[in-house]
Amino acid sequence: MNIWENTLEFAKKQDELDPLKDYRNQFHLPTFHKNKVTYFTGNSLGLQPKATKSFINQELNDWAKWGVEGHFHAERPWMPYHEFITEKAAKIVGAQNNEVVVTHSLTTNLHLLMVSFYRPSNKRFKILCEKKAFPSDQYALQSQVKFHGFEPSDAIVEVGPRDGEYTIREEDILSKIAELGDTLAMIMIGGVNYFTGQVFPMNKITEEGHKVGAKVGFDLAHGVGNIPLSLHDWGVDFAAWCGYKYLNSGPGGSSGLFIHEKHVKNKDLIRFAGWWGHDKNDRFLMPDKFNPMPSAEAWQLSNAPVLSLAAHLASLEIFDIVGMKALREKSLKLTGYQEFIINDINNRNEHINLEIITPKDPDKRGCQLSIVAHGQGKALFEKLSDNGVVADWREPNVIRIAPVPLYNNFEDAYNFGQIIEKSITN
Ligand SMILES: *Cc1c(COP(=O)(O)O)cnc(C)c1O
Repeated sequence: MNIWENTLEFAKKQDELDPLKDYRNQFHLPTFHKNKVTYFTGNSLGLQPKATKSFINQELNDWAKWGVEGHFHAERPWMPYHEFITEKAAKIVGAQNNEVVVTHSLTTNLHLLMVSFYRPSNKRFKILCEKKAFPSDQYALQSQVKFHGFEPSDAIVEVGPRDGEYTIREEDILSKIAELGDTLAMIMIGGVNYFTGQVFPMNKITEEGHKVGAKVGFDLAHGVGNIPLSLHDWGVDFAAWCGYKYLNSGPGGSSGLFIHEKHVKNKDLIRFAGWWGHDKNDRFLMPDKFNPMPSAEAWQLSNAPVLSLAAHLASLEIFDIVGMKALREKSLKLTGYQEFIINDINNRNEHINLEIITPKDPDKRGCQLSIVAHGQGKALFEKLSDNGVVADWREPNVIRIAPVPLYNNFEDAYNFGQIIEKSITN
């Protein structure tokens, strides 16, 4: 028996019952449109928490008041500013505090991590990644391979969906790892695929990768703040993510990186170093020899970008209060409801075929649903936009929507259904 109903009344009732309903009020919902906006692109740029302005203003005021002395005397001193964020970020990804730092941007961090964890030899030089990885990740992998004098076409091995399928079978990833065996230097996969929303079995991939002696890393741009993560317990070697998607830290916002405890104290790891990675106890004695922090902080190059981190901190304070457990609970319901509505539209309309290519199993997806609008083109997307839906369109006919549990609600899901159903005419 289905407990869901595709009615406004039902959606509103779910919103009333939602223990997280008040968090929507802590965000600025976009107002640019003549219609009410249904914002479903938190997977590209999360909305602005209302608190962000005061966090940034705090630093502007302290800068005005203190000048350089703000490094010590600002309300939140700039010298250790990143430390205010570490614990909150670590909780979100299931890590220890010494395994996480927020710094730089995502692609920069991927490179810095690969400098340490992609150490190819003539025998072991291959990288396993998912087919159609996010372009920046592909470019990063290709350039790392070339940096070490190898050819991307030899070194990079992609696992993709089987013919006629959209998502990648777990067994195909795991068997590819075994097949590559001692030629496999590193696995680098997007923990949640940006296109289909598929969640990969990070624990199993890590285990299988370690069995053949490879290093295992994940790009969590679409995973962080979206699905539960246990990077430490899974034994993942390294990971990075961005702050501006589900973490709502503003355009170009700072990225987080994770390095497992088993590596952070290894001073012999090759890395590209900068002064902010040097042991903070004697950093300002300006010694000639680099002595890394015994933590993920050793991968920091430069002093902290305080204005950007202020926005990050504002947002992570919300995550800290809500907690990933409650967020995930709501997310399962909200995305389940959206899925039900889309299926209901298909069932009632012979001329409509909206195929959800995101896995049906809730354990294998986060909040995002990717929909193939069969028989439709860009005109459909334009109609959605005209009606205030902010979603993502990929040629030829894929719509990606992300009902984000922090600020989207069941009424948004209902509205999206109404608008898309009316936008598809026979
Ligand atoms: C969003 C995203 C990026 C963006 O990289 P930036 O360095 O933040 O511009 C990279 N990889 C993946 C998988 C993404 O989803």
